[in-house]
Amino acid sequence: MIHELHIPTPAQSCFVDITAQVAELVRRSAVQEGTLMLYVPHTTCGMTIQENADPGVQHDMLHVLRRLVPRTDPAYRHIEDNSAAHVQASAMGFSHFVFVERGRLRLGRWQGIYLAEFDGPRTRHVLVKVQPDR
Ligand code: ZN
Repeated sequence: MIHELHIPTPAQSCFVDITAQVAELVRRSAVQEGTLMLYVPHTTCGMTIQENADPGVQHDMLHVLRRLVPRTDPAYRHIEDNSAAHVQASAMGFSHFVFVERGRLRLGRWQGIYLAEFDGPRTRHVLVKVQPDR
């Protein structure tokens, strides 16, 4: 069974910590040992697993991504005028997995799961599946 999270994003580009919502889905699934699969069905919004202790990390990642990928470029051809968002989202990726151990996400001590918005604000969707071990 696939679950769907609806995540409002507050800015044009931002990271939104979705770890708590994902952990709650895992808890409700009652799966003790297995694999959590996450998939973002978008093209200008991705996902990453990154540090959740210092918000400066999210700031710096956005800073670098904006610097690497200019918002406008005379060479861009995409008619929607949001090529930067497509490139930045691809850099983050659209699918991740996390092991589930003893009913909990087996994330590293400083890790959180982040939706990475590059063409917001809007409401995004994250597809989640918790697959129990056989
Ligand atoms: Zn586009």
